Amino acid sequence: MATPPPGYGAGPYGPYPPQQVPQPGPYAAPPGPYAVQPGSHPPPPGPYAPASAYPAQPGPSAPQPAYAVPPQGAGDGCRVCGCRPAAPATVRGHQGLLVVMRFLSLPGPFCRDCGTATYRRMSSDTLWQGWWGPLSVFITPFTLLLNLGPRAAFRRLAEPAGGFRPPLDPGKPLWRRPPALLLLVPALLVAVGVPALVVVGLLIREEAPPVLAVGQCVRNTGDWKDQDLVVTDCGSARAQFRVSKRLTTGAACAAGDFLSDPKYGGDGWTLNCLTPLR
Ligand SMILES: [Zn+2]
Repeated sequence: MATPPPGYGAGPYGPYPPQQVPQPGPYAAPPGPYAVQPGSHPPPPGPYAPASAYPAQPGPSAPQPAYAVPPQGAGDGCRVCGCRPAAPATVRGHQGLLVVMRFLSLPGPFCRDCGTATYRRMSSDTLWQGWWGPLSVFITPFTLLLNLGPRAAFRRLAEPAGGFRPPLDPGKPLWRRPPALLLLVPALLVAVGVPALVVVGLLIREEAPPVLAVGQCVRNTGDWKDQDLVVTDCGSARAQFRVSKRLTTGAACAAGDFLSDPKYGGDGWTLNCLTPLR
């Protein structure tokens, strides 16, 4: 008699139908709903054990195996824990590796807790692994947005129950995990930076040089190469010059006058004659 393979040996009920043979899923851990739980139901060697190569004889004397296989159809249980209800949503992730990219996807069904845990883990990983490539910069936000659909589907589910193992711990919300900072930093920069630029812009506008008009008095708080003219009341002791003339083409200032910088001309190039007050 042939030795049955360990774990799937022939029992008193005959060999399992081919579709019941546990298959390793594409994702190694954790065990899927169809994995045989260790030690749950060791198949005792039976006296009628047929060789596993032969198909089972259909008939009333061949009942289904007794271990916990969720019934097929009518809404599958969670792929991680077997709980119900479960939503058939696919969670995605992305990794940019400079030249190469990896598109990750984990199809459901997921129960509420396993789905939320998977969404948070894959989105969090994508947040720091996703950006490192020229195309990935665009694919990563798209992937994160795409995950919002499954996330909403999981949130609508009732509390998971009836699985063969406890559901996964959903863990911290995505925005409370360190990779979320990678999203918060640019958001904060925009939120703080834009008002800061507006304020700086207003300050610069306020410090624009005054446009001199004939008859005004000024004082110069800089030197003549880098003038800093401040309009001052002519009666004040601090007034140094009177704007005596707006210099047009062909005109000249009186002897002893100074020339104001063109930045005080209003148009950026007109000079004014500044006559010393004393
Ligand atoms: Zn689950």
